[in-house]
Amino acid sequence: MQGDPEVAVLRLGHRPGRDERITTHVGLTARALGADRVILAGDGASRADTVEDITDRFGGPFAVDTVDSWRPTLRDWDGAVVHLTMYGEEVQTVESEIREAHRERRDPLLVVVGAEKVPFDVYETADWNVGVTNQPHSEIASLAVFLDRLFEGRELDREFEDAEKVVVPQAVGKRVVDAGDE
Ligand code: SAM
Repeated sequence: MQGDPEVAVLRLGHRPGRDERITTHVGLTARALGADRVILAGDGASRADTVEDITDRFGGPFAVDTVDSWRPTLRDWDGAVVHLTMYGEEVQTVESEIREAHRERRDPLLVVVGAEKVPFDVYETADWNVGVTNQPHSEIASLAVFLDRLFEGRELDREFEDAEKVVVPQAVGKRVVDAGDE
């Protein structure tokens, strides 16, 4: 988010057919909850247009990058790496260390989420393997909770720039207006 070092989300793996909505939602969740960029690897690159379309309509800044292979991104990352996995250390135990690295040491953060089995070298490369509970659930849920803990709720007040459309919060009903008409 503005003023913070970069937070990028790296989506590993994508099973064509099965993971279309999940990979899209990893990108949309990253954007909505304060990350600056999503990196879609391999077949996941097919979801880039959908995420970019939402950014065009509802604002940014938010970048979508596509790469053939995730390994160089992970290997060459100049900052700290958090891998979200049900086998990791509890988020509530390590969140303050991660915030300190990000906000005080000013380390750019790469947040890695998987799809199917994640190769073991990812666990070894990560600075933190983090579990959002140690129960199996999903990359979308773990990403949302992790980003909220990282930003301590500040992401909920983020203003998106250059939007075409803005949702006006309603107790009941739906109201979407052109950005200029707010
Ligand atoms: N066995 C996998 C694991 O390592 O967490 C579960 C695979 S799950 C279908 C796909 C992705 O969801 C994982 O690669 C991980 O990024 C994320 N995930 C699932 N449960 C999680 C949890 N409790 N904490 C953090 N991330 C989780």
